[in-house]
Amino acid sequence: MSEGMSEQLGQSIQGGVEQPSARRHVPLIERYRERLPFAPGDPVVSLQEGSTPVVPAPVLSELVGARVRLKLEGANPTGSFKDRGMTCAVSAAVREGAKAVVCASTGNTAASAAAYAARAGITCAVIVPEGKIAQGKLAQTLIHGARVISLAGNFDQALELVRQLTDTHPIVLVNSVNEFRVEGQKTAAFELHEALEGELDALCIPVGNAGNITAYWRGFSELGVKPRLFGFQAEGAAPLVTGQIVERPETVASAIRIGRPVRWEDAMAAARDSRGSIRAVSDSEILAAFRLLASKEGMFSEPASAAAVAGLLKYGAEGAEEIVCVLTGRGLKDPETAIAHNDGRVIPCPVEIERIEEAVLGDP
Ligand SMILES: *Cc1c(COP(=O)(O)O)cnc(C)c1O
Repeated sequence: MSEGMSEQLGQSIQGGVEQPSARRHVPLIERYRERLPFAPGDPVVSLQEGSTPVVPAPVLSELVGARVRLKLEGANPTGSFKDRGMTCAVSAAVREGAKAVVCASTGNTAASAAAYAARAGITCAVIVPEGKIAQGKLAQTLIHGARVISLAGNFDQALELVRQLTDTHPIVLVNSVNEFRVEGQKTAAFELHEALEGELDALCIPVGNAGNITAYWRGFSELGVKPRLFGFQAEGAAPLVTGQIVERPETVASAIRIGRPVRWEDAMAAARDSRGSIRAVSDSEILAAFRLLASKEGMFSEPASAAAVAGLLKYGAEGAEEIVCVLTGRGLKDPETAIAHNDGRVIPCPVEIERIEEAVLGDP
């Protein structure tokens, strides 16, 4: 092998394998400091978030007739993309000398805020809609030591109340109205641009409070690239599709059960300026995509994440050849939904080899 060749090979190994795994040990703020509002020497509260994998999805690619890949945001430390924004929001809060953070949450913001507050040694309170938060998210929030307040109301009411609270008390609001959240989350666009070497035609993403679609568009805009952004809401919580606030949002995808998104205008601008769209998918379409991802691609995501895939399957690639679906959170967050909506069953069996044979090898 010539010296040139081995050098080339060395570089491609570095680019394809070694570098990304090495990057996993770099806090997001350090990896992208020159593009984030943090100076060297500022406090950094990190759980080594970001640098998440982008994985090919062969079955989806076949179904839509384009190259589809999945950005696994569930690989973040608390299991959702919220960590990208939270490292920035909590680091900035610590820089300001804050002793407490608060948020309204459908679950993942709460879990992330609780973890980063624990890491920073400050207190955290979360307001969640009563009875509407997935078990995994509640478990995380409690074990990290946050104060959990269950509001007899929905997410939008919880957010309204925490905004009032933080107007009159020295507590930092870490919902995506907080600019640092959007700043941190835009780094996912940088990662995609690097990983795909600019080859991205369309991004499919679930939309709830619309902070994430806003953040991706900000990230792509800063790079001067323009993939089309296809946002998807659940039919029962689709204010950006109908143009009307939804007073009682309802969907199986609890992470996007939001009727009055705080980033409404930003999200509409992102869809318009990228020549994309924000459209709706039904709960049954979300659940079908949820099962397909798990059973055919080996990817167990949250139902909300599956909304992006449901949208792609429903509306098609629209001429895009290189597509990424953002899997925003991991499936273990919401075990109840997975247990309630799958095609399998648990087969009881006594301790006898014949019955085991029958159970394992017999007709399903
Ligand atoms: C927060 C969240 C969303 C929605 O993101 P927004 O920024 O609120 O639009 C989607 N999926 C998961 C898993 C989430 O946690």
